[in-house]
Amino acid sequence: MQNLLFLLKEIAFNLYWSWNKDAMELFNEINPDFWNWSGHNPVKFLNEINQSYLLDAIDKKNLGGKILTIYNDFKNYLGREKYFEQKYYSTEKPEIAYFSAEYGLTECLKIYSGGLGVLSGDHLKSSSDLGLPLIGIGLAYHYGFFAQMINRKGWQTENYEINEFQNLPLYLLRDDNYNPVRIEVQFPGSVVCIQVWVLHVGNIKLYLLDATLPENTVEDRRITDILYGGDTEKRISQEIILGIGGIRLIEKLGLEIKAFHLNEGHSAFLCFERIKNYMKKYNVNYDEAKKACYGSNIFTTHTPVPAGIDIFTKDLFVKYFKSYAENEIGVSVEKLFYEGDLNPGKAENHQFNMAYLAINNSGFINGVSRLHGEVSRKMWMLPEDRTQIESITNGVHTLSYLSSNSNSVYTRYFTKDWIYDENIWSRIDEIADEDIWAMRLFNKYELIKFCRKRIKDKLIYSGADKIKSAETEGILNPDALTIGFARRFATYKRGNLIFRDIGRLKKIVSNSQKPVQFIFSGKAHPKDEGGKNLISEIISYSNDRDLKNKIIFLDNYEINVARHLVEGCDLWLNNPRKPLEASGTSGMKVIANGGLNFSILDGWWDEGYSAENGWKIDSFADEKVSLEERDALEAKSLYHTLENEIIPLFYTRNGNGIPFGWVKMIKSSIKNLAGIYNTGRMVKEYCDRFYMKTK
Ligand SMILES: *Cc1c(COP(=O)(O)O)cnc(C)c1O
Repeated sequence: MQNLLFLLKEIAFNLYWSWNKDAMELFNEINPDFWNWSGHNPVKFLNEINQSYLLDAIDKKNLGGKILTIYNDFKNYLGREKYFEQKYYSTEKPEIAYFSAEYGLTECLKIYSGGLGVLSGDHLKSSSDLGLPLIGIGLAYHYGFFAQMINRKGWQTENYEINEFQNLPLYLLRDDNYNPVRIEVQFPGSVVCIQVWVLHVGNIKLYLLDATLPENTVEDRRITDILYGGDTEKRISQEIILGIGGIRLIEKLGLEIKAFHLNEGHSAFLCFERIKNYMKKYNVNYDEAKKACYGSNIFTTHTPVPAGIDIFTKDLFVKYFKSYAENEIGVSVEKLFYEGDLNPGKAENHQFNMAYLAINNSGFINGVSRLHGEVSRKMWMLPEDRTQIESITNGVHTLSYLSSNSNSVYTRYFTKDWIYDENIWSRIDEIADEDIWAMRLFNKYELIKFCRKRIKDKLIYSGADKIKSAETEGILNPDALTIGFARRFATYKRGNLIFRDIGRLKKIVSNSQKPVQFIFSGKAHPKDEGGKNLISEIISYSNDRDLKNKIIFLDNYEINVARHLVEGCDLWLNNPRKPLEASGTSGMKVIANGGLNFSILDGWWDEGYSAENGWKIDSFADEKVSLEERDALEAKSLYHTLENEIIPLFYTRNGNGIPFGWVKMIKSSIKNLAGIYNTGRMVKEYCDRFYMKTK
């Protein structure tokens, strides 16, 4: 019995549990309230649950066999032969380093804010699936991105929750003498000490750098306190820790890294540190070293707008890099400053651009969808002697966003290991229409239960009486066409487009023969008043007498909410202003769950869409119309397609009540898209086209 606890502990300390449904469900089964209380954190769960209660629960609920099965699956997963060694060679030592400012791996680890982080998390998970010799490097933020609460007035408030690292699935990196590993970086006026937390993501290690040490000044300890918090000085400090500190960690670990992947420009200072190390090691000058490092840096850009990129003033840059340039590298600070410009010397420049630093130093550059690659090429018009921008379309880690119900349907029809067969989706037609439809209804009902519980809990928390909280049992209709819209509330994503013609919307949702309902969720950046206004607008619509219970807003969009939404929604709506969505990934998460996409042809949907896979909203981005007119025209197209194509298809049923046309579309969506828009395909592309081609 005691033995089982050791196994559980081992399971808890590897994030493999975050995509193994049985593992997640096991903790839930032991005690659902405690599992929720822990924030879906098995380490906290095991540390704080009463041990004899735990043993008793395992015994009474007969969970011993389950624990053994999960443990064996886990060990088999780690040990199975994987893509990398089949195609290339086998190696124990990491050769690829992936740098990102945020990682979205699972809900209890709040070191991400949104899409970029979730993509980094999925990159690590798929690298593990494929057996890549890769490590991740990031920052250990003590406060993650904020938790959102919508107050009684319908306004977003922010709550910063602390990450208790000693109670999370990670441990402090120690050397052979069991002393914590320390890295140092010189800042203006002080040396900043860094400790390192290690997280296991399957076979992959993620190292998180943390400046919260007693040796540091109070000011310096706060460098890694909050993700994307503070001013540009905080930003440059965090990015120095990530880029320069990250390379120092690699040196300290004695790794021979052959490919350095800069996921977005935040980590680009690593280019300086690599050049410095090369100069010292081979006794060459700056330009020679730069050339030598060029072929092994890979830069992935994620934003199609110049405003999305980190830019520092010359004064700030000089403050932080003068001593580093002169004393550590042995060049003028001007020389380093030029790296932040595309055409140094051509015009007087006062700004240091992190993307330019990355571009000037990377032998591989890519955008994150075909369209975004094109847009980036036009936006930057890179000089001919720079690497040209390619594209690798984003994906999602399928198992992390697949409902356990869908997983068991696939297991029943295919095999337990269906996920390892990359051609599995070509067999989707083997699944009976009835079973696809039953899977959909089940997934949707799980989502509705989740919504009811969240709304009820919030009411109880705010002091509502029994009658009022009991009313939540009737929220949402399990038979209605359920449309999801969840993403950051940035103005370009147009979270309120569907409300443009409120009369028309009311007509759509209140058709009692063909009911339609919407579930919204998403955060606005704390400083983005425009985004917060959008949220409050939607909340007030959700309280409108004619829209009540047909428009729902779920507080605090994060990975757990996202997973429930993408598992349960029938249709996923996305209507950004083209071409501002570089890729978008939430729509990819619905595919294997049997959800369908309805979107502007932007980002990934520009290449994923075909009339048999889903629907498009017409875009007027290329027409000569004002923004205002464009929104109006695109909203019209949205309503038109919804009324004339989507709703009729959903409600055309055969004698058994099955919407055969809809199910047919689900099957083609899965067949044509699920095998492409996943991070397994994506990481293979990075591996084959970039990582294994570095020089
Ligand atoms: C998938 C995901 C995103 C990214 O979705 P987009 O479509 O790119 O907006 C953001 N946040 C969370 C929590 C996610 O799971």
